[in-house]
Amino acid sequence: MENCIFCKIIDNVIPSYKIYEDDNVLAFLDINPAVNGHTLIIPKKHYTDLQDIDANVLANIFDVAKTLSMRITERLNCDGYTIIQNNGSPQEIKHFHIHIRPFYSLEEELLPIEEIEKVLI
Ligand code: AMP
Ligand code: ZN
Repeated sequence: MENCIFCKIIDNVIPSYKIYEDDNVLAFLDINPAVNGHTLIIPKKHYTDLQDIDANVLANIFDVAKTLSMRITERLNCDGYTIIQNNGSPQEIKHFHIHIRPFYSLEEELLPIEEIEKVLI
């Protein structure tokens, strides 16, 4: 999809901090993290939102979310996590994605994104 930032990330036109990739799904770190390990998971094919996305691809995305949430919890020692999926007005990037937002009981200093990538890759 032309002019879609996430499609450009998939095509490597825009760089990103990738932590997981397979034939259908890509996961990378949010460029403006709310907390350490804030991750976005997207389908490689462009779907706009939850109404648009194919159910099998959605299942692929949640399989990856299970794997990565376990990895994030173990390696970043978070105390849980929240899955966020915006549609319509609150959705800034109109390419379907879910956020994994780790939760830390104690406030954490934000580390450089490159360091988080190394830990999660
Ligand atoms: P949403 O409101 O759910 O559409 O959130 C979009 C998210 O994408 C925001 O948290 C942004 O910080 C993030 N974002 C925007 N551009 C990039 C980028 N080039 N690389 C990584 N994350 C991005
Ligand atoms: Zn796209």
